[in-house]
Amino acid sequence: MIVSAPDVRRHAVLGAVKGGEIRPAFQPIIRLREQSLAGFEALARWDSPTYGSIAPSTFIPWAEEDGLINALTHGLVSSACAAAAAWGEHFFLCFNISPLQFNGSDLVSVIFSAVDGTGFSRHRLVMEMTETSAISETRNAHEMIGHLSKSGVRIALDDFGTGHSGLSRLLSFPFYALKIDKTFVRTIEADADARMIVSAIVGLCDSLGLKVVAEGIERPEQLAVLQELGCTYGQGWLLGREMTPAAAAHFAEGRKVATHYPETAVDLAEEAA
Ligand code: C2E
Ligand code: MG
Ligand code: MG
Ligand code: MG
Repeated sequence: MIVSAPDVRRHAVLGAVKGGEIRPAFQPIIRLREQSLAGFEALARWDSPTYGSIAPSTFIPWAEEDGLINALTHGLVSSACAAAAAWGEHFFLCFNISPLQFNGSDLVSVIFSAVDGTGFSRHRLVMEMTETSAISETRNAHEMIGHLSKSGVRIALDDFGTGHSGLSRLLSFPFYALKIDKTFVRTIEADADARMIVSAIVGLCDSLGLKVVAEGIERPEQLAVLQELGCTYGQGWLLGREMTPAAAAHFAEGRKVATHYPETAVDLAEEAA
């Protein structure tokens, strides 16, 4: 029998979550038309003093398996909101929520206990879920998402286009925004199919009244195509890398802010124009 070597870092995840070693990095989400700031996605970063930096694709599954994912989310939301409250009022913060968390019963209280008291409004929060969360736990996810959106927390569908869920079932959730997965953006210059898919997603979002965000924009040519296709928001290394709180504060200061939360009639009219 072949047994893979135990990963010593795996056992450090508990201490890292409890000890606040897992911190948010902030990546800007930009309104493409005038390149203004719409929000930031808070991405989990673990820079271990012992093991160096470990990717979220490695440690998030460990936190999930060890029942630490709600504690991790709580720590990230509270520290990100406390920091971002000082950067101005008119941008949102996005967080990634694991499929597991839509299956439990604690997510709503985890989020509210984390944000309350930070000075950051609940109405400026967007929770990102993947298609997996939508399909595997449909009933529970529906309840959780209904509860969150009734309380003013927005929900976005992350990595759209990579899952296998039926469209009608997916769209039965009250999504605020849909994020086009970076696999489509990667090939959008050369691949007519990718362009057609993105164009169709943008059209779908327009007719359903959903915001649309393109992920993984790395090159000016990709940005140009996305603007031509009418995609409103974007995210990627071309527009802004993941940043420390200090760098994000500076970034926010230098950008005219795109959207007001909660939205006013003026914003909606301006967007329609
Ligand atoms: P995601 O939510 O789709 O996040 C976007 C990922 O794309 C991030 O990877 C980001 O660093 C990366 N990215 C941003 N711009 C570009 C670009 O221009 N090109 C390319 N190639 N990549 C870009 P990261 O930070 O490694 O996170 C990976 C995934 O881990 C996230 O994908 C998300 O699903 C998950 N994740 C991150 N933080 C958390 C968290 O706090 N909780 C949970 N449950 N999952 C998280
Ligand atoms: Mg995300
Ligand atoms: Mg994504
Ligand atoms: Mg992803």
